[in-house]
Amino acid sequence: MTDELPFPESLCHRCRHLRIVRSAKGSCFLMCQEPSLPKYTAQPVRACRGFAPPGPPGSGALGTE
Ligand code: SF4
Repeated sequence: MTDELPFPESLCHRCRHLRIVRSAKGSCFLMCQEPSLPKYTAQPVRACRGFAPPGPPGSGALGTE
C-alpha cells in the first residue's frame, strides 16, 4: 500500500474540483468534478480552463462573472 498520489506535478492537485478515487485493489485515480469537463482527463494537467484554487465559492470557479 502506498500513500503516493499519481501525477504529483498535475495542476489538479491544487484545484478544488479534484477528487481522489481509490479502487478496492489499491489503484488511485484523479477524478475531476467540474461538470463541464471530462471526469478522467489525460494527466498530468498543465493548464485547465476549469482550474479553481481552494477558497470561498465564486473565487475562481468556471463560469463565474
Ligand atoms: S478543473 Fe481542471 S485542474 Fe481542476 S481537477 Fe478538473 S481537470 Fe484538474
